[in-house]
Amino acid sequence: MTETTKVNLLGLTQPQLEGFFESIGEKRFRAGQVMKWIHHFGVDDFEAMSNIGKALREKLKACAEIRGPEIVSQDISSDGTRKWVVRVASGSCVETVYIPQAGRGTLCVSSQAGCSLDCSFCSTGKQGFNSDLTAAEIIGQVWIANKSFGTVPAKIDRAVTNVVMMGMGEPLLNFDNAVAAMQIMMDDLGYGISKRKVTLSTSGVAPMIDELGKVIDVSLALSLHAPNDTLRDRLVPINRKYPLAVVLDACKRYISRLGEKRVLTVEYTLLKDVNDQPEHAAQMVELLRDVPCKINLIPFNPFPFSGYERPSNNAIRRFQDLLHQAGHNVTVRTTRGEDIDAACGQLVGQVMDRTRRSERHIAVRQLGDEAAPSPSAANRT
Ligand code: SAH
Ligand code: SF4
Repeated sequence: MTETTKVNLLGLTQPQLEGFFESIGEKRFRAGQVMKWIHHFGVDDFEAMSNIGKALREKLKACAEIRGPEIVSQDISSDGTRKWVVRVASGSCVETVYIPQAGRGTLCVSSQAGCSLDCSFCSTGKQGFNSDLTAAEIIGQVWIANKSFGTVPAKIDRAVTNVVMMGMGEPLLNFDNAVAAMQIMMDDLGYGISKRKVTLSTSGVAPMIDELGKVIDVSLALSLHAPNDTLRDRLVPINRKYPLAVVLDACKRYISRLGEKRVLTVEYTLLKDVNDQPEHAAQMVELLRDVPCKINLIPFNPFPFSGYERPSNNAIRRFQDLLHQAGHNVTVRTTRGEDIDAACGQLVGQVMDRTRRSERHIAVRQLGDEAAPSPSAANRT
């Protein structure tokens, strides 16, 4: 068997791994043993699997591998933020960001190299679509991040406590791989992350939101960005196919299936003089009247030639206050911590061309240094 036909065990869910062991004439329980080695201990060498006999180790070496995406670079910023640029099979690079906060660590994971949906304020969208990531390439980002903190026994608290599918790409357009990776994130034999702490963010691929509800119960975030169809058609082009009424209905169905007081996260990137006016806040209140949700305002993170600007701190606070007064739970993401997804959207475009390395380092520093719009606005919920 040649190198290229080896099965990569990194991206297999427990049932898939059980199927794999059966297919090579072995017992299904081997799946649990191997998953623990891979995900709890970060092992990529069958030789290290001490509870697997030599004969089976040799067999595995011949037909399988544990291969994460190649790490091109990793940066640790002064505030503890970690960033990896990894190369995937298609040759493209994607970015993963880890943000530590009191009592938790959030990892922002990419699902595609580039994105076909072309939201007008997103640097990933501006690059166009390159490739879907495999399940191994998606979960591999969690694997790499955890390993960077050293291998830890399963019982010890892990560095990555939350995952947001808010890096590069639209996860619902790489459905099977995104779902498999999220299943491994939540599996106790994988990363044991609670369903509430795994969040999939979508620009609004309505039919796939319904499909998602059939197979998984992770938290859902909708990238809204505009409170009416005319504006949203312009900012988030997929709205022309699935307009607000359709996508919000799908979100409500998804959330109601989850029960247990779970709510939709509504993401709203604030663009100066485009969607940050009081009339937009008023329309948003009306639009979300019967949607159980919390709102995350993301001040636009500028990138070269975007054509958009970040609103002033006053404008951000005014927008937040209007939503707040209408009874909404509203947070403003700062450029670290909760802002991790916005930073992903901004930074990936600057790292794709690796000849522009110096720009990337500047961008990473800015992410760590930049202050919140205002402490009160940033922290209020
Ligand atoms: N495709 C999915 C998930 C990845 S984008 C989605 O659109 O939801 C994750 C978030 O990054 C989106 O909510 C988007 O609003 C945000 N984002 C992208 N570029 C941004 C920028 N330049 N400034 C602020 N937020 C940005
Ligand atoms: Fe794609 Fe999301 Fe960027 Fe829109 S915001 S282009 S859906 S990655």
